[in-house]
Amino acid sequence: MISVTEATRIIQQVSAPHAITLVPLAEAVNRVLAEAVLADRDLPPFNRVAMDGIAIRSASFGTYKSYQVEGIQPAGAVAKVLLDESHCLEVMTGAVLPEGTDAVVRYEDIEIKDGVATIQLQAVTAGMNVHHQGSDARQDDVLLTEGQHISPAEVALLASVGKAEVKVYGFPRTAIISSGDELVDIDAAPQAHQIRRSNAYALQAAMREMGWQASAFHLNDTREEVLHELQLLMQDYDVLILSGGVSKGKFDFIPDALTELGVTKLFHQVSQRPGKPFWFGTVENKVVFALPGNPVSTFLCFYRYIKPWMQHSMGVKSAEQTAILTSSTEFKPPLTYFLQVHAEHENGKLIATPIPGGGSGDFANLKAVNGFLELPADRSAFQAGEVFPFIPFR
Ligand code: AMP
Ligand code: MG
Repeated sequence: MISVTEATRIIQQVSAPHAITLVPLAEAVNRVLAEAVLADRDLPPFNRVAMDGIAIRSASFGTYKSYQVEGIQPAGAVAKVLLDESHCLEVMTGAVLPEGTDAVVRYEDIEIKDGVATIQLQAVTAGMNVHHQGSDARQDDVLLTEGQHISPAEVALLASVGKAEVKVYGFPRTAIISSGDELVDIDAAPQAHQIRRSNAYALQAAMREMGWQASAFHLNDTREEVLHELQLLMQDYDVLILSGGVSKGKFDFIPDALTELGVTKLFHQVSQRPGKPFWFGTVENKVVFALPGNPVSTFLCFYRYIKPWMQHSMGVKSAEQTAILTSSTEFKPPLTYFLQVHAEHENGKLIATPIPGGGSGDFANLKAVNGFLELPADRSAFQAGEVFPFIPFR
């Protein structure tokens, strides 16, 4: 049995199999850029009028205070030329600054009467209210680097340089595999001794939130079936996330089957609750997470290990969070305890209130919970006011 820290280290050392895919810009949000993006033009690409008003030649101010309006320069029109420095052109935000002008005076600072604009300022300086060509970026400047997480802000930049399609890291081909003879699908009427399988749905939903698609499969607790099906799945998928069948039960065939199929076990059993029977291994560039089937165990293991692994491998920096325990808690076994909590902000601090449930099988309890507080294995008493790592899931 290894520690949570050691399990984390082993998992993070295994690189996730990736594909690079091209997606339409509209689908690029929350993905990770797999290419550098350069400015195809200066940003802004022309001297942009930044306020509605009039454009003048600033050096003429003083000689003149009132300017005859010579015409209008709307956004989206070719630059006009100011013919006479005692004149002005009305200009709209987003327009090209007319040639022969170098300053914009806002409508708020002028009065227009009978086609003459009178400026009510003491001074007009060159460049006033002008967003200069290339002042944000120059053509061929690197705007975004490979590995950048794409938020709506990056989508704006990508759109501005005409990236209709974007190269992003693709998620690996992933199979979610539930197991157990007691499980029936959610549209079947379970008999008294059966339950509906919920883990596969929870995992698929947790992954979907990250944009990670996975196909779901089910194995019965038969040695031959487990071996045969896993062999087929390992041909088609690069990441296998199993749930159930990894404990010490007579029908828990999964660890042996994986070994028999050539998957190298990197660990089996982590000193934690819930999720102790967690099994992890790799073969070539395929990665297998075999999680214990208790619903809270599967759930916790995904958020504590698998999600950060995928984020890390995609260059997404997920800041580690902490929260303050609100009431003293005891946990005697020498295991890292993932305490179910409801955390909320109070005076700028995240405070976590324990929501005790009925253990790793009680997934109904999760509805009131928004994360887990990670209480270290080498202690058994945890005081109110102490700070611990927090693993949020909503
Ligand atoms: P196992 O890890 O296979 O020993 O399963 C532990 C417990 O989790 C058993 O009570 C199973 O019925 C339950 N369980 C396993 N897989 C699922 C699943 N996909 N959905 C809901 N419960 C499950
Ligand atoms: Mg089982």
